[in-house]
Amino acid sequence: MERVISGIRPTGNLHLGNYFGAVKSFVKMQDEYDCMFFIADWHSLTTHPTPENIRNSVKTILSEYLACGIDPQKAPIYVQSDVKQVLELYLYLNMNAYLGELERVTSFKEKVRKQPDNVNAGLLTYPCLMAADILMHKADKVPVGKDQEQNMEMARLFARRFNRIYQVEYFKEPQSFHFADKAVKVPGLDGTGKMGKSEGNCLYLCDDEKTVTKKIMRAVTDQGPTQLNQEKPEVIQNLFTLCELLSGKEAADYYNDLYNNMTIRYGDMKKQMAADANTLLAPIRERILAYSSDDALLDKIMRQGAEAAAARAEKTIEEVREIIGFRKV
Ligand code: AMP
Repeated sequence: MERVISGIRPTGNLHLGNYFGAVKSFVKMQDEYDCMFFIADWHSLTTHPTPENIRNSVKTILSEYLACGIDPQKAPIYVQSDVKQVLELYLYLNMNAYLGELERVTSFKEKVRKQPDNVNAGLLTYPCLMAADILMHKADKVPVGKDQEQNMEMARLFARRFNRIYQVEYFKEPQSFHFADKAVKVPGLDGTGKMGKSEGNCLYLCDDEKTVTKKIMRAVTDQGPTQLNQEKPEVIQNLFTLCELLSGKEAADYYNDLYNNMTIRYGDMKKQMAADANTLLAPIRERILAYSSDDALLDKIMRQGAEAAAARAEKTIEEVREIIGFRKV
């Protein structure tokens, strides 16, 4: 069975973009692949060097993953910092990664612009840590968004380079996994193209019923169509995309007809979207609350996840040490 690995940084709550764009597919993938998921708490230090309460953030994201239907019996979930073997592989990959190529990575350049006072070495070697997470498990596939494509290219480059330098056929090149030909892109509630934490336009999985309704009712629209069958401006197209995700194609088609004959009332459409969002989110929200108040269960899941990940990681490290020529410990 092909191996899949995917990580998420514990820097906030999951929103609808994460759900439709990633986690919902993970739930399906856990039945079809040998999956492991991890919470990338080390990675988060590159942007959040003094995390306010990292343990809580980890538990939050873990509860949300579980609430969405990730089943640790099928797909272990572990916390990156629990699996120390990854650091050793990170070190070896760092030794064979060159300053020039790391400086050219787009996400590094972006971070330099965004946080000019904290251009740390961790940011520069982010692709090495990401490659260590992936290569550690000999993953075949890594579900990633477009923004991670270049880091995936680096992971493949590091795998090839390791094999070449040590004259082995050891690491295989991990492939990016795209859920569909056209990745789902969940628009924001502000009418812009992408829902995202830093954009402040999110519907969070943990939002309560009132907040969900309020946020959707306030979603940005326009004055309405002024001509029959008129092309939709971007904000309205985005609202329809959200409508299809939340209420289904039939509902979106119904409102589309109303739009085309100029009788649409966005308020009605949003009311339905809010009701459907609450139907979708209510059980998830309930499970988030249940998981997040069960520390013993979360600890057990993290421990079991770490054991499963460490078993694989240890094997890889032993082999890598032997390939490079270190003695067995
Ligand atoms: P982030 O929380 O931005 O680190 O996103 C984690 C993952 O969630 C991304 O790699 C995407 O797969 C998915 N994701 C985040 N925002 C969106 C969105 N607006 N539409 C679709 N997928 C998204």
